[in-house]
Amino acid sequence: MHPRRLHLIDTTLRDGEQAAGVVFTREDKVAIARELVAAGIPELEAGIPAMGAEACDDLRAVIGAVGSERVLAWCRADSADLAAAQLSGATRVHISFPVSDLHLRTWGKDRCWVLRELRRLTVEAAARFRFVSIGAQDATRADFGFLKDFVAAVARTPARRVRLADTVGVAHPTRLLREIAELHERAPGVALEIHAHDDLGLATANTLAAFEAGATAASVTVNGLGERAGNAALEQVVMALRVAHGIDCGVRTEKLALLSALVAKASGRTIAPERPVVGGAAFRHESGLHCAGLLKDARTYEPFAPEMVGRRREPFAVGWKSGVAALGAALRAAGESCDEAALRQLLPVVRHRARDLRRTLTPGELLVLLQATRETSAPVSAAERVVEGAAPSAPFPNTGVDGATPSSAAT
Ligand SMILES: [Zn+2]
Repeated sequence: MHPRRLHLIDTTLRDGEQAAGVVFTREDKVAIARELVAAGIPELEAGIPAMGAEACDDLRAVIGAVGSERVLAWCRADSADLAAAQLSGATRVHISFPVSDLHLRTWGKDRCWVLRELRRLTVEAAARFRFVSIGAQDATRADFGFLKDFVAAVARTPARRVRLADTVGVAHPTRLLREIAELHERAPGVALEIHAHDDLGLATANTLAAFEAGATAASVTVNGLGERAGNAALEQVVMALRVAHGIDCGVRTEKLALLSALVAKASGRTIAPERPVVGGAAFRHESGLHCAGLLKDARTYEPFAPEMVGRRREPFAVGWKSGVAALGAALRAAGESCDEAALRQLLPVVRHRARDLRRTLTPGELLVLLQATRETSAPVSAAERVVEGAAPSAPFPNTGVDGATPSSAAT
């Protein structure tokens, strides 16, 4: 049995800002923090106080905006970092320990150091802060026996949550299902948090698998912003839980588009069109068969309505892969109504024009082509007749499976 709700810790302002070349201004940080809270995110990891006075001031500004009870300050396993966190006004800290042999070698530490400092620093932190979270950095490349010992050791400290960091994104869901269940069994009193990176495109899947296996918390970032290929994306995790699991995390999903745009602008990172939930093409349709189905019932070819994530339904893209129904809808939207015979006459012209241009056509371009076809009123040859959803005779690399034949679209 997994819990019915996953506690989300947004780390856009900490791990997100660690993405190469990304610098948030203080105003950006406060604005993003406010929107995250407005969207119902219960906890924000908002900075690294040890980075210096400006980072401390940034964190203080965020705490001032959303309250210290929601904000976590990230620290290395070092008393100096805890002191900096205290200066920033944080009342909640996360202390990260390297746990894989690779990381321990890199930093000149060993497993004895980890277990000794874990005891010492958690006692020190518990005296200074209201909440202490412990991080197992590079947990997914650590010796699993040692990771179990580490989690069991955390259970004997005042810390109440352990972050299992898939620092370089090499975990996979079936492995996490097994290992997190085992860790949970070993230390049932400690909340387990998954912190997934997306180097292999598995961050969302790994977050969901960890949740299935007993993790009760997950760290995420807006747009998946983070080091290298980024982190588990807030919007993907929230919507995957909602749509695939039927679980409501208490997030106002209609805020996701706004949050995404805010972070994209502040980070200077554009969003790929095909990116789930927030990508520009995530609700865009061109294929004839899909558009014909969507006109009858939008659920036919969409997992959820765009309005659910704060987006608006956009008109169909009309081009090389369009069918009669989409073309008719586009012309109606542009103030023209055509009978089916006229649409069937216009469609091959539209398709060939789009193919020449290698893009979809604008409403203005459609109207020009409509006018031209009306003027020529040439009879439609049998070769030019097309059926809904079928591509013209020659195969074209961009046609896509769904536009190719009606039967293939069922897959
Ligand atoms: Zn990370």
